[in-house]
Amino acid sequence: MAARMKLKLKTVFVLYFMVSLMGLVYALMQLGQRCDCSEHDLPKDRAISRLRDELHRLQAQIRKLEATKQPQNQGHRSSLPTIFVITPTYARLVQKAELTRMSQTFLHVPQLHWIVVEDSPRRTPLVAELLRKSGLTYTHLHVATAKERKLQEGDPSWLKPRGVEQRNEGLRWLREDRRDQNQQGVVYFADDDNTYSLQLFEEMRNTQRVSVWPVGLVGGMKYESPVVEGGKVVRFHTGWRPNRPFPMDMAGFAVSLKLVLADPKACFDGEAPMGFLESSFLKGLVTLDELEPKAENCTKVLVWHTRTEKPKMKREDAMQSQGLGSDPAVEV
Ligand code: UDP
Ligand code: MN
Repeated sequence: MAARMKLKLKTVFVLYFMVSLMGLVYALMQLGQRCDCSEHDLPKDRAISRLRDELHRLQAQIRKLEATKQPQNQGHRSSLPTIFVITPTYARLVQKAELTRMSQTFLHVPQLHWIVVEDSPRRTPLVAELLRKSGLTYTHLHVATAKERKLQEGDPSWLKPRGVEQRNEGLRWLREDRRDQNQQGVVYFADDDNTYSLQLFEEMRNTQRVSVWPVGLVGGMKYESPVVEGGKVVRFHTGWRPNRPFPMDMAGFAVSLKLVLADPKACFDGEAPMGFLESSFLKGLVTLDELEPKAENCTKVLVWHTRTEKPKMKREDAMQSQGLGSDPAVEV
């Protein structure tokens, strides 16, 4: 009886052991299997889809950054001819706005060296700081226009040429600083109030002697321009005295650095008759036949002789007389 009981108990234990073992084996097999019970995976799926979205967003951001990034290939850049831009500038209410606009255009132009020449007896802190923060390669010069040559308040703008001594000072610096250089370069005179397209700088970059192109909104015309026939400049489209040696605006030509260095006397003549300032510089350097037409044979306008309106200060003056004027410590 006791032996039978023992046997039964043993069988129960063995059976119990077998069933547990089978259960364990089944459970282990299930671990490696995909679960078809979808509600278990929902939070996991959501997390994966969120991460995938995030990945796509980051990939799009990288693509965007890469598209806007300037070419960083320094080796390639330094082999480009440098564009030396000479800009005369003088203190007035809109000066900082003009120079800000200009500097931010130039930031998009590779291998550009900005020569800013202040019409002033000294370098001003406003221009010095603006240049320092600009991120551009620059040289900061100054020379004050002689009093008898300076346009006075109320004078019509055509009465005296402007920026003459400053452009000559820029040329003097180039001849001094770059005299030993066999560097490929080009010199462009850019007034601080004009509007410059980026394409213009690539058009002028490989100037051999003097390159030329149209200028928009100048001389009382929609544009003035050299006229090109058979790839050569044959005459000029201008509304006034077309027989001047070079009836072009300052913004309409660039000169190779080599030519500027080769002829150390070439400069702007402040005494030249009205409309002859550009000619006074160019006539010793180049002939009509040698001009290199750019901007699709001078059919595209890439620079505009825009002029900035002088802001009216009627309210400021009235407020100032009441002691309520704008804070002079705020630079405008
Ligand atoms: N300019 C200057 N001193 C002056 C007047 C003008 O240095 O007394 C500069 C000015 O900042 C500009 C260039 O000379 O870069 C040409 O002047 P402006 O634009 O007034 O000439 P316009 O467009 O009337 O020919
Ligand atoms: Mn101007």
